Amino acid sequence: MDFDDTPEEAAFRAEARAWLERHAPVKGGPHDFSTGYLEGTVDPRVFVERAKVWQRLLVEAGWAGITWPRAYGGRGGTAMQSVIFSQEAAQFGVAVNTFAVGIAMTGPTILRHGTDAQKQRFLPPMLRGDETWCQLFSEPDAGSDLANIATRAERDGDEWVVTGQKVWTSGAAESDWGILLARSNPDVPKHRGITYFLVDMRTAGFDIRPLRQMTGAAHFNEVFMDGVRIPHENVLGDVHGGWACAITTLSNERGLIAGANRSSDIAALVELARKRGRTDDPILRQALADCWIRQQIQRYHGFRLQTALSKGVPPGPETSVMKLWAAEYLRRLGDTALAMLGPEGTLLSEDANAGQDWQARFLHAPAIRIAGGSNEVQRNIMGERVLGLPREPSVDRDVPFRDLAKGGS
Ligand SMILES: Cc1cc2nc3c(=O)[nH]c(=O)nc-3n(C[C@H](O)[C@H](O)[C@H](O)COP(=O)(O)OP(=O)(O)OC[C@H]3O[C@@H](n4cnc5c(N)ncnc54)[C@H](O)[C@@H]3O)c2cc1C
Repeated sequence: MDFDDTPEEAAFRAEARAWLERHAPVKGGPHDFSTGYLEGTVDPRVFVERAKVWQRLLVEAGWAGITWPRAYGGRGGTAMQSVIFSQEAAQFGVAVNTFAVGIAMTGPTILRHGTDAQKQRFLPPMLRGDETWCQLFSEPDAGSDLANIATRAERDGDEWVVTGQKVWTSGAAESDWGILLARSNPDVPKHRGITYFLVDMRTAGFDIRPLRQMTGAAHFNEVFMDGVRIPHENVLGDVHGGWACAITTLSNERGLIAGANRSSDIAALVELARKRGRTDDPILRQALADCWIRQQIQRYHGFRLQTALSKGVPPGPETSVMKLWAAEYLRRLGDTALAMLGPEGTLLSEDANAGQDWQARFLHAPAIRIAGGSNEVQRNIMGERVLGLPREPSVDRDVPFRDLAKGGS
């Protein structure tokens, strides 16, 4: 494992840091927009506008889409440079993975599976934040078992007609475009009859209904589609071959959430203990030490990933380890903060004596255990791909979707 930058990486880091120092708001300052959006403590419209201004600045200065080809607005750089820039940006008051469903998940999927025309059409406005994206994958009967989706897509000349229901769609109401999985062939086993579409969210036939979370925010939506028409040119990858594209999107999503573990969080937690005069409390000290150790272990997992990237090796199951680890760390971080706040932790309001940042993080932590593949699903992946345990029994892999208990007709 390498802990140090190569001379080229160190030069790139210095250049990135110098640029960020000139242009990025400082952490904790009045223009800091690094937290609060997912936790539901800032107005999403205000956040999106700020994030768009920041994103345009990144594109113009050549710091957006670091691994993307220059032809689509990117920098044409390496995965390692992208990691370095994110590490540096995380120390400033900016949201690091802004417009993540688009730039961090859909972009790499279009780059890998899209036609030249799709890349030209979709990637530049995505990278600038001019067009935002949502992920229309999960359904009431398809979450961990995503291949079980029942939303139907039927070909009609040069168009596809889509009918069905999605759920937990983050940001659907505010998004311009969606990535959509639909069942185009129910006569083959479930993984083989799915098509991946790029869909304009303003097409007739969409009915988007917000779902309020316990943070008070309504990022989620139920999305109903009744005869939504999608041009055939917006199929990504092969017709009925959408599962391969979905895997690309999901592995990018997991890597993204795996990185949701900032060293500044533990520093803020220790600061809270100091402010509250609790640094002598032996039980609390143990909890703080536990959080610190977990943050360090995650950091070393990060070095492992970074070393692989530096050598050109694509990330494997280590993103599952990191995603699971991040979820558990964020849970303990929230629990420890709330233990310090005591009864004040029950108040979620800007005017509360303790503010609302920690309370909001505590309420958001369970979401990280589920989004992007639940803790149990990550453990299954680790069991199979890291420990070499036998695959989970699967009785429906070779049965046509139409013949499954809930499938088809
Ligand atoms: C914050 C957040 C944002 C999200 N955003 C989106 C989005 O934008 N678009 C989208 O499409 N989806 C989104 N989702 C949905 C998310 O992908 C699903 O919630 C997730 O895949 C789990 O699916 P499920 O909710 O149907 O739970 P289920 O799959 O029904 O799981 C229920 C329970 O059973 C366990 N379980 C299931 N299968 C197994 C197994 N094989 N072995 C062991 N345990 C198992 C799970 O771990 C869980 O505890 C989001 C979810 C969250 C929390």
